[in-house]
Formats: sequence, structure tokens, C-alpha cells
Amino acid sequence: MSKIFHRSSTQIPLQAVAGDGAYLIDQNGKRYLDGCGGAAVSCLGHSDEFVKQAMHEQLDQLAYAHTGFFTSEPAETLASNLIAHAPGDLDRVYLVSGGSEAMESALKLARQYFIDKGEPHRHKVIARHQSYHGNTLGALATGGNKWRRAPYAPMLFETFHISPCYEYRHRAPNESSEHYGKRVANELEAEILKLGPESVMAFVAEPVVGATAGAVPAVEGYFKRIREICDQYGILLILDEVMCGMGRTGTLFACEQDGVAPDIMGIAKGLGAGYQPIGAMLCTREIANTIRDGAGYFKNGHTYLGHPMAAAAANAVLHRLKQDGLVDRSKQMGEKFKSALQDRFGDHPFVGDIRGRGLFIGIEIVEDRETKEPFDPAHKVHAHLKQKAMENGLMIYPGNGTKDGISGDHILLAPPFIITDDQIGELIDKLGQTFDEVF
Ligand code: PLP
Repeated sequence: MSKIFHRSSTQIPLQAVAGDGAYLIDQNGKRYLDGCGGAAVSCLGHSDEFVKQAMHEQLDQLAYAHTGFFTSEPAETLASNLIAHAPGDLDRVYLVSGGSEAMESALKLARQYFIDKGEPHRHKVIARHQSYHGNTLGALATGGNKWRRAPYAPMLFETFHISPCYEYRHRAPNESSEHYGKRVANELEAEILKLGPESVMAFVAEPVVGATAGAVPAVEGYFKRIREICDQYGILLILDEVMCGMGRTGTLFACEQDGVAPDIMGIAKGLGAGYQPIGAMLCTREIANTIRDGAGYFKNGHTYLGHPMAAAAANAVLHRLKQDGLVDRSKQMGEKFKSALQDRFGDHPFVGDIRGRGLFIGIEIVEDRETKEPFDPAHKVHAHLKQKAMENGLMIYPGNGTKDGISGDHILLAPPFIITDDQIGELIDKLGQTFDEVF
């Protein structure tokens, strides 16, 4: 009898005992092709020799030193390497243990920035419906996922949500993408004006929406307009690249493809690639300097900040991504993968949309392709797909549709960047078999 408080209180999951490249292996020796990197985490697969070696070497040298006393070489190197590749004016790195901590820290840093800057009235956060920024209370309050928020609603600070940029569902039939992007971005301005611009602190968004929508990128121009609005009203743009960052979309950071840079950015998942739990918050020099000249201290902190082992693993991951051309591979394999998915599932009667960037691809499932009517969420189509796929030796990341018809069920495909042509073929065959069994 398992003593772990598992995600589900009624079902004990299978036990993973080994990893082999793009596969995980359970206690019975069955192999699962990792079609989703867990939750878009395992960008290098499960047995990367270079990362393992770097971790061994770090462990022999130094496992841990509390950041209240010391910094460490791997943490310093990681910060420098991230900044060397970061967009815009991002210039400082705060190393944490995962995505929720990164986003929680981002919110607190934004607040402290405005206090230290002499604008303490700024505290309101605007984000988008259909977003996920983590499960800690601040990050949860910021996200728009109703199901996750509901039980904790009385404990969440007040946040304000505008429409996501979700072309498949919300662009009007005769509207150009450009017009649509401006129209939804302008909702931000309307919300700022409604709340009072001097009270608004930050706008938070995922450049490519992951778990709550299934790899939905914004249309061209949307984020440029968002950046303009933030600048016009002196509001910080916080981008959540926890899932879509670290090469997942075919560039190291997804926002590069939108031609914008944030004031604060959260990353995690692919940063440690599953070899270590690590996340990071990056911010501009202007923000860091304001805090230096103000309180002189970021009033936040965790025991495992800048963990040397985690930083060493992340340095090795970053090396593999950049030096070994794996970000480019994510782009190239992603294009092949998406077009193969289009060929195989593009005309499927229950597939509404296939979208995404790089090796970050979503398939939206609908009951009616013409009307885009989702399945009744009570049918739990996403859960059946996940279950059948596992039986077929394939991991896919499921997302449920919403009752109010905002989205259909979807599956997220985010395989390791090392995936081969043959493995893409295997993935598509196993997914085809899964669809045949479920529908
Ligand atoms: N932000 C986004 C976009 C995510 O997808 C996630 C996790 O799925 C998080 C934040 C939270 O990250 P973590 O689960 O590492 O706390």
C-alpha cells in the first residue's frame, strides 16, 4: 500500500523504474514513448550522458551551500549564460526550484519594484482567462483556470482577466488575424483604464499557452501591441515561459518569435529538463537597480535558491540546447511533426485544430468540426485519450474542455528534442491507434 499522497486519491500510478532516451520504462518492463516530456519538461529525453556527467562532477565538488552565506560557481555560470541568451534588457537571474516559485517571485518582485520606485499604489495584476501560472496562491490567483482556482477562491488575491489570444475560437469569420490580434490586445488597455492606470502593476501572459489551451500561440502583432500598452501606462510585462521556454517552440525563448521582450520572465521545466528541479526568474537591470537603491534587499527567499547541483544540471542542459543545436532541432523536427500530424489527423472528424510552434503542438478535439462545439466535459474525452495512449505505450498530456464552451478537450504533444524520424512515426501510429479506440 503506497504511503504517498498521490495526485489521485483513488488510483496509484504505475511505477517508472528507468529512462532510455525518449522512453520511460515501468516496473513490468513496458516502454512508453514520451510524447509530451511529462509536462513539456524532458527536452533531452531521460538518459542524457552529458547532463548526468555534469551532475556527478558537481556532486563530487559541492552539493549545497545556502545563499544567505555563499554564491557558487555553477549558479554564477548559469546566470551569466542565461543572460547572454536572454531577450531585451533582461540582466539579472533569480534561481528557484520550479515554475510556481519563479512566477510567485515575479509577482513579488514587481510589487517591490514599484514600492522602491515610489509608486506603492501599483499592485493590481491583469492576466488572461485560460492561463496557468502555477499552483502556489499568488501564481494560482494570477492564472485563469477556473477548475484549479475554484476551491481556493476565498484565499486568492484579486486579479483581473482579459480574453486570451485564441484565433481558432475567437477570430470573427471575416476578420483578419492582424485586426483580431489588435482587438484582443486592446482589451488590456480597456481594463487598465477601467481599473485606473496608476493602480496597475503588471500584465502576465504565456507567449504560447500550454496546459490550459494546448499550445496556442498568439497571432502576429498581438504581443507587440501588448508591449506598447504596457509601456504607455508604465506597467510591467511579465512573460511566463515556464512551459514554452528553453527551446520548446524552436527558439530559446518563445517571445523572440513575437518580437517582444518582457520586464520579468519566468522559466522552469526545460531548464532542468527533469534532471533537477529548477526554475528561474529573470528581470531587467532597471528593476534590479531600483531594488538595490531602494530596500537593498529582495524581500523574498527560499532555502534552495541557486542550488549548485540544480544549476550544474541546468548549465549542462543549456550547453546541449545551444552548442549541440537542439533548439534548431526542436524547430525542424517540430515542422516535420506538425505536418505529419496534419496529414494523419487533419481530416479526422473530431479534430478541430492542430497548432503550435516547434516541438510544442496541441490538438483540439471537438464534437462538431463545423460549429467547433466541444464534447461535453463530463465525457472526459481527454482522460480517455490519455488512458488509451498509456495502454498503447505512449505518453500524451491531456487538457479538459470547459463547460462554458471556451475550449474543447485537447492534447499537448511535447516530445524530447532528440526524437528521431522513426520515433515520430511511432508516435503518430500509436496516437492513430488511440484515436481509433476512443472514437
Ligand atoms: N507556468 C506555466 C506556464 C506552467 O505550465 C506551469 C506548470 O505546468 C507553471 C507555471 C508552474 O510550474 P511548476 O509546476 O514547476 O510549479
